[in-house]
Amino acid sequence: MVTVAAHDELNVYESAEARFELAAKLLGLEEGLYRYMKYPNKEITVYIPVTRDNGQLEVFIGYRVHHSIVRGPCKGGIRFAPDVTLDEVRALAAWMTWKCAVVNIPFGGGKGGIICDPNKLSRGELERITRRYTAELSEWIGPERDVPAPDLGTNEQTMAWVMDTYSMHVRHTTTAVVTGKPLDLGGSRGRKEATGRGVMINCDKALAKLGMKREETRVVVQGFGNVGSMSAVLMHDAGYKIVGVADIHGGLYDEKGLDVHALLDWVYVQRKPLPEFPGGGAKMSAHEVLFQPCEIAVPAAVENQITSQNAHRLQARILCEGANGPTTAHADEILEQKGIFIIPDILANAGGVTVSYFEWVQDRMGLFWREHEVNERLKDVMEHSFDEVVRYADTHRVNNRIAAYMLAIDRVAFALKLRGIYA
Ligand code: NAD
Repeated sequence: MVTVAAHDELNVYESAEARFELAAKLLGLEEGLYRYMKYPNKEITVYIPVTRDNGQLEVFIGYRVHHSIVRGPCKGGIRFAPDVTLDEVRALAAWMTWKCAVVNIPFGGGKGGIICDPNKLSRGELERITRRYTAELSEWIGPERDVPAPDLGTNEQTMAWVMDTYSMHVRHTTTAVVTGKPLDLGGSRGRKEATGRGVMINCDKALAKLGMKREETRVVVQGFGNVGSMSAVLMHDAGYKIVGVADIHGGLYDEKGLDVHALLDWVYVQRKPLPEFPGGGAKMSAHEVLFQPCEIAVPAAVENQITSQNAHRLQARILCEGANGPTTAHADEILEQKGIFIIPDILANAGGVTVSYFEWVQDRMGLFWREHEVNERLKDVMEHSFDEVVRYADTHRVNNRIAAYMLAIDRVAFALKLRGIYA
């Protein structure tokens, strides 16, 4: 067995880097290629002057990191959060390179962020920050350069502002400069469900591999936002039994199965707290839900949920990581010893970036697909990617996570060798 060590178990970026290091070592990556991939292509810091609603001038700090342009334009979100750092943005940009390469879409990784608290800013202030940030980056983003998307603290509206600002600068409407846009501005059908759908497709593939059936498969889902709720609904409708759910307010577990549509209505239409759901079974903490009896656990909320302290308690046969970084590198080893089949985040939640890629394709074609076309293409990409990761794991005798990193690094290295270094 090969192991990975991150010095600080709960530093999610260190964990990702430790996995990259191990995968690169196992691949026997040449020293020069290793160095090339370890460092980003470009890091941009922008100082964003914005007049607040009270008339005061404030300067916000923003970043955009291009990790790799080897396989295509950079792709990655923009986050608005008070604790954004350049280190974090750099790590997330690299993460995107590997995620895009695992599902073999023609993008490299990028990421951006602005240090601000979106909850303390008015809509007008957010718009001005977004527009000035975009204007400062207008030479570095674009459909052929770098294609941002929403992330923490940003949404469809933010993307509409980025698209409009960029379009004003280049003097024509350029919808393909960002993804995650509203449908009426060149967004893609199926984007909202895409990450959850990708989670389900991965679970279907794992069941087929392990000789299991949907009807006999109990699922717990931690997180009931975009990824968690969509995974739960789609899997429920496909015949899986959703026995556990949780959000930030707490968790519920019912061995008999939960009515996910009624729960969705409870949380999103009636706007009631998830743990108060009447048909909800036993109440527990959001964290405990993951460790209840089930065949599949889907962490789809936040990072560092499965650690060296609790991994031995996981009862699932399959762990499908809807969230980014829900499992620490130290926990991997314990899960491997327990024989848990892991579908790692860079594969499990790549349905989102895959449909973002479809959005970019549709914008550039000016031809929009029906929802079933989007879903079929997504299925094709996800199934193929799952097969490739599992094949890599078998061939190289490594776990699925390291296999996913190896596959991704190998793809980027191969493209880099073909292109050569421009000197
Ligand atoms: P979201 O904000 O829509 O939902 C987050 C959910 O997690 C909410 O239900 C919230 O109540 C819950 N939550 C927050 N803190 C929690 C805690 N400590 N314990 C339990 N539940 C908690 O976010 P999302 O878009 O669903 O993203 C979830 C995860 O998936 C993140 O790690 C994100 O990076 C990752 N991801 C999202 C996408 C996407 O397309 N949305 C794609 C790839 C990866």
